Amino acid sequence: MIPYFCKTFFTILPFHHLKTHLTNPIFDIISQVADSRGVQAFVVGGFVRDLLLKRDNKKDIDVVVLGSGIDFALEVAEKSGSEIPVKFFKNFGTAMLNYHGWEVEFVGARKESYRSSSRKPIVENGTLEEDQNRRDFTINAMAINLTRDHYGEFLDPFDGQRDLNNKVIRTPLDPNITFSDDPLRMMRAIRFATQLNFIIEPVCFEAIKKNADRISIVSEERVTDELNLIIQAKLPSRGFRMLDDAGLLNLIFPSFCELKGVDTIEGKGHKDNFNHTLAVLDNVAAQTDDLWLRWAAILHDIAKPQTKKFIQGTGWTFHAHEFKGAKMVPRIFRDFRLPLNEKMRYVQKMVLLHLRPIALAEEGVTDSAIRRLLFEAGDDIDDLMLLCTADITSKNPVKVKRFIGNFELVREKLKEIEEKDKIRNWQPPISGELIMQTFGIRPSKQVGIIKDAITEAILEGDIPNEFEAAYQLMVKEGEKLGLKKKIS
Ligand code: ATP
Ligand code: MG
Repeated sequence: MIPYFCKTFFTILPFHHLKTHLTNPIFDIISQVADSRGVQAFVVGGFVRDLLLKRDNKKDIDVVVLGSGIDFALEVAEKSGSEIPVKFFKNFGTAMLNYHGWEVEFVGARKESYRSSSRKPIVENGTLEEDQNRRDFTINAMAINLTRDHYGEFLDPFDGQRDLNNKVIRTPLDPNITFSDDPLRMMRAIRFATQLNFIIEPVCFEAIKKNADRISIVSEERVTDELNLIIQAKLPSRGFRMLDDAGLLNLIFPSFCELKGVDTIEGKGHKDNFNHTLAVLDNVAAQTDDLWLRWAAILHDIAKPQTKKFIQGTGWTFHAHEFKGAKMVPRIFRDFRLPLNEKMRYVQKMVLLHLRPIALAEEGVTDSAIRRLLFEAGDDIDDLMLLCTADITSKNPVKVKRFIGNFELVREKLKEIEEKDKIRNWQPPISGELIMQTFGIRPSKQVGIIKDAITEAILEGDIPNEFEAAYQLMVKEGEKLGLKKKIS
């Protein structure tokens, strides 16, 4: 069974001789160096694949040399006038140089053998064929000769071009061995299938299912790199469904799998939060490339399983799932080795606030509620509105129309209040410094109490967002705490 629908994203170059397509001057330099050293050199892997797909390459080029990659790279660097030093990875026998923003990596052709406990192979020098054999997929094993007499010749031992045409991910060798040797390739298969909108050949997919458990020997960082590439694809849900069908999702992201399923009590069901979340993720992906907003979509309902309750007369509730979800974010980020910095706090904030605009729309839009939302969301208010709109996945057109209409109202009101009160990135008109000076006190709890009272009063609309009114309130609040003004 081929479960995933495929649509054309890329047209494919029909050429067998690719000379005219090697427009980057670096290829000419490599060719000259190969000539002078009397060795053969080839461009392989992603660059060739993307060239044939006419797909934008992310500026990296892999070159295989029949000989030492390191010495070769040094000579190319010298000839190309590159001022950035060549980077060496001695353990892998590779060297990388930067050529006008292109990362060009040189490696000696190699042959690999594996042990069961590690994805790090034992490496020996090899022929080009042996080097192509060790590559993960047929579409990544294609090479173009850069040696002068054969410049531009296309070498495609596993008919990668046919797989490109048929949009199929397939391994050059027995997929069971390929995936067992290096289980990261399972993630890569699903990543390429998602990025390119290809299918994974059924035999290959079965091998992933069979070897899924071996993902445990792969470092978390590498798993996350691939997962992030899946998330950044045009239709990330497709990658998540493949991960799930392969039995990998449950191993790398169990809390996400817990979103699955529908319980029914007294004839009342709730929506399947797994499918819902994936729909929200795709909706967000259609609007923005931002990885972190996509992560916010993935995590927005993550605490629903823990907060789920059936209340007689009311039905299913997920009370406070946004609070609990926001609390879960740091742990999830830590487990995935995602950065524990402002990106994480941004995702947390999105999860925490994701119900607020809809609640506003449903309960009536008061000025003070809008001011509060603007204050809490700050500059991220537009992202929050995007997430909330993406969160509308109801199939009921009447409901959808009502939500969208309400959102329009919230948007207008946000604009109006922002123009009037300038709350976005707002700093209260009275600083803690001034409070301390005024009452002659040191940093203390009292300063915070007074500051909060001023913020509250402005957000509530009890006083205007102005210095004079805030100053008066500060004096009053100080007096309530038994403080006396020291300066006027
Ligand atoms: P992109 O850079 O667009 O993500 P790519 O195909 O260039 O895709 P890289 O990770 O840069 O992928 O690797 C370069 C090449 O090295 C691949 O095309 C493939 O031939 C080979 N390769 C990378 N990782 C593996 C692996 N785990 N097993 C076997 N071959 C691999
Ligand atoms: Mg690459």
